[in-house]
Amino acid sequence: MSCILCKIRDNKAPSYKVYEDKHTLAFLDINPVADGHVLLIPREHTQYIEELSPEIWEALMRTLIRLVPSIQRAMNAKDSNIGINNGPNAGQIIPHVHIHIIPRPSKAGKLLFSNPARFKPRKKEYFEEIAEKIRKEIEAT
Ligand code: AMP
Ligand code: ZN
Repeated sequence: MSCILCKIRDNKAPSYKVYEDKHTLAFLDINPVADGHVLLIPREHTQYIEELSPEIWEALMRTLIRLVPSIQRAMNAKDSNIGINNGPNAGQIIPHVHIHIIPRPSKAGKLLFSNPARFKPRKKEYFEEIAEKIRKEIEAT
């Protein structure tokens, strides 16, 4: 089993988790397009959203609308980009359904998945601080 998101789910790979429940799990993207970039996944491994059962999809959407306002509050953002790359032709690199939640505090700056700036190395403390802020906001809801 080589899926990195399944490994994160099973605590066999490191991650900065911010939320988990029976069917879903959310953690920080390791190469954030913007500060507070979160990946929300179903625990179940499928590549395409249409392979998920309606029940799991519903659980995912319930978590999404719970998490978005909390992530935004944590990052002082009013808005977010929310996206799914559904298949390799659409830019999906990891073949396990994941929803990108990218809080946007301001219009300034380009939001590009291919922006090289997102690949700069970041310290553990950077992720820990953001994950803690987001967790606190989620717990308060
Ligand atoms: P996609 O192109 O939609 O498949 O996006 C995959 C995302 O997963 C990218 O934004 C990566 O930065 C992110 N990513 C890759 N490996 C990890 C990891 N180990 N932990 C957290 N995020 C990751
Ligand atoms: Zn997987």
